Amino acid sequence: MSKSHTPWMGRRHFLVTAAAGALAVGGGTITPARPGQANTRTILKSANLEVLVMSDGYFVLPTGFLVDPEVPKSESEAVLKAAGQGGEQLQLPNNVTVIRKGSDVILVDTGSGPHHQPSAGKLAENLRAAGIQPAAITKVVLTHGHPDHLWGVLDADDNLIYPNAIYFVSAKELNVWADPDVLRNLPAVFPKELAAGVAKGAKNHISRIRDKVMMVREDDEIVSGVRAIDTPGHTPGHISVEVAGGDGFVIVGDALTHPLISFQYPSWRVPVDHEADRGIATRLRLLDQLATDRRRLIGAHLPFPGSGLVERKGGAYRFVAS
Ligand SMILES: [Zn+2]
Repeated sequence: MSKSHTPWMGRRHFLVTAAAGALAVGGGTITPARPGQANTRTILKSANLEVLVMSDGYFVLPTGFLVDPEVPKSESEAVLKAAGQGGEQLQLPNNVTVIRKGSDVILVDTGSGPHHQPSAGKLAENLRAAGIQPAAITKVVLTHGHPDHLWGVLDADDNLIYPNAIYFVSAKELNVWADPDVLRNLPAVFPKELAAGVAKGAKNHISRIRDKVMMVREDDEIVSGVRAIDTPGHTPGHISVEVAGGDGFVIVGDALTHPLISFQYPSWRVPVDHEADRGIATRLRLLDQLATDRRRLIGAHLPFPGSGLVERKGGAYRFVAS
């Protein structure tokens, strides 16, 4: 492991809590990440457009990162139980979307890379297994700068895994991580050591792609029919990707992270969101639009492959995997 990276969690802490997490998580929510299991799913295929979801593996994080501490424990525990989860740790799949459009092969995020958690960072090997060489990736859209989305730009030797790609990031997101006061602006739920590691990791990884970065604004096209949309809150510069074609769909990154909480309780504050109130506003707007338009979404941490529709239910919403 390179000295220049601090893992998302201290390794010793990870080993202890990962065991606890594995016990606490029920079946059906774990992304297949082992050989012989499905790591790739085709979401859409037409003459000129193909959309795949590829697994980066999975990782664990403290339950308190996603669950509003203001919500009575009995209520939040019931929701987690309904999702087959519980306890102090959540196990999250990491779904990366691959879009083939004309001669372009586009990744939306890059997964965790080798310095995050041992169960994560599988994207490049899964791409190769699916016959997609990393050198064939022409464009990468980074929804935001958290480790599980950004750190997969570098391999274990700190070389670029996608040497021929251009990287699309929002200017606002670049500013978040370039800010000398970045630590002060990170979610309070991050323990000190973790916050320092996340900030340093973002800086290191962004510096390695700096000369290949294109800044995007709302509505900018990545390629024809694929555009960036602002979905701030999880981080201030978080973007999603809207794809036209078929009925169209939206890759929402971490704007909607949990199959029950984000849909049934979109107004619960999410502690890991940098701007929790904006996160709520973004979720409510996205959910309303997706339900109204009956457009599919792909979420990075929804059960693999993370694709589905949004239905209205009892004043809130429901995620219908499809
Ligand atoms: Zn994430």
